[in-house]
Order: sequence, then structure tokens, then C-alpha cells
Amino acid sequence: MSKEIVRLEDVRLSFGKIEVLKGISLSVQEGQSVTLIGPSGSGKSTLLRCINRLAVISSGEVFFDGQQVTAATNINQLRTKIGMVFQHFNLFPHMTVLGNVIEAPVQVLKLTPAQAKQEAMLLLQRVGLADKADAFPAQLSGGQKQRVAIARCLAMKPRVLLLDEITSALDPELVGEVLAVIRELARQGMTMILVTHEMQFAKEVSDKVIFMDGGKIVEQGTPDQMFVNPKNERLRRFLRAVI
Ligand code: ADP
Ligand code: MG
Repeated sequence: MSKEIVRLEDVRLSFGKIEVLKGISLSVQEGQSVTLIGPSGSGKSTLLRCINRLAVISSGEVFFDGQQVTAATNINQLRTKIGMVFQHFNLFPHMTVLGNVIEAPVQVLKLTPAQAKQEAMLLLQRVGLADKADAFPAQLSGGQKQRVAIARCLAMKPRVLLLDEITSALDPELVGEVLAVIRELARQGMTMILVTHEMQFAKEVSDKVIFMDGGKIVEQGTPDQMFVNPKNERLRRFLRAVI
């Protein structure tokens, strides 16, 4: 029996008068890859951001590792355990690849630079970029930058990775190298919640797929249930449009 790491209970969130999450409940077990799909504006990014409190919910409950995430939660501590990678690689431009990866482990986890470097080099190997350790972000392709962003996240040894459309800004020929890294992380049992428009990839890598529309979960299930036998007409229409 695996352990629940993230749970949302009837989460609602409004921006001004507009409610963008309308009662979201979901559960993610340790080691699972859960994929959020759905049309633009359906609330996928906002949902991810609720988990590390980048977005503050209006009602309902968010739990991380059995603890309720509230205004009283130590947010910095929470965020060291929840890694997030965005569409646009927010690498520090003035630091080398290695510098980017060791920054938080040295500053936040208080590793010695030597320790942090040793671990960072292993991570850079894992994402296939050990030979770029001394390069600056501007010298890298988009796919390479995104792989550094993933390595930088992993350096904090997060319990969960949140990945928000991390291949959407990449040239098509660079998407595969980033997805390969994610696929390998999934295989190794990393817990991930990801938003992606790569349906074939979602099908391959997910334990559970969640379809959102209009701030609600419309349907969820295994990749087979969702992609082979979708029940809801809105999901069918969405899949026809994107596949
Ligand atoms: P998705 O990631 O599925 O495209 P988002 O979560 O980004 O959807 O957005 C859901 C809705 O919330 C959209 O209508 C969007 O315009 C709105 N929204 C997102 N962030 C903000 C914000 N900071 N302020 C106001 N509205 C926002
Ligand atoms: Mg989004």
C-alpha cells in the first residue's frame, strides 16, 4: 500500500469575482505520475500552484505529506520539498550550469560547496549534461536549459515534482530530450504532477490522468480509461482536437 503525499479536498480558488477552481478533490500517492490535461484556462496551472501555495485557495483543504497547508505553514520549508519547473526555464543567467544547480543546496540545505558539487555532477550526468557544467545558460539550447532546470530542482531532493508545460516553449526537435529525462524520473519512482499537451507522452508515463475543464475535474482515470475509452463528451472532444 503506497502512501498518500498530496491531497486536495474540495479546493476552490477565485481571482476577484471569478472562480477558477470549483471544488477540486484529488489524491496523489508516493511514486505516482499524475498528469493534468485540459483546455487552456481550465485551471491546471492554478491547481499546481495551490500545492506549494504559490496560489492561495479560497476554501477547501490542501494536504502535503499528511500536513494541512495553511497560512501558518512554513512556506519556505514546504517549497524545499516540492520542486517546480515552469515552461520558461528560470535559470540564473549570470551563473554557470553547475552554479545554478548548487545554489539552493548550498544556501538553503547548507551543504558544503564540495558536497553540493559532487551531487550536482551526478544530477547533471542523469540529465545528460555533465559536459556543460561550466557553460552559462545563454550558451545552451532550450532543451538543455530545461534539463538544467530539472537537475536544479532535483538537487533539493524534493518529495514531489510539479512540472507545468515544461516542453511547451521548446522547438519540436528539443521536446524529446526533455521528455526522456521525465520518463526516466517516472521509472525511478519520482512522484510527479505534470501538466502537458504531449498526449502520447501522458499516455506512456502517467499512472493517472486528470481532465479539467472550467475549473473542475471532469474525468479521471488510467491512461487507457482516459485515452482509449473516454466517457465524458467534453474529454472526447478535447482529445479529438489535440491528438
Ligand atoms: P491553465 O493552466 O489550465 O491554462 P490557469 O490556471 O493558468 O489555466 O488559469 C485559469 C483561469 O484563471 C484563467 O481564466 C486565467 O485567466 C485565470 N488566472 C490565472 N492566474 C490569474 C491571476 N493571477 N489573476 C487573475 N486571473 C488569473
Ligand atoms: Mg497553464
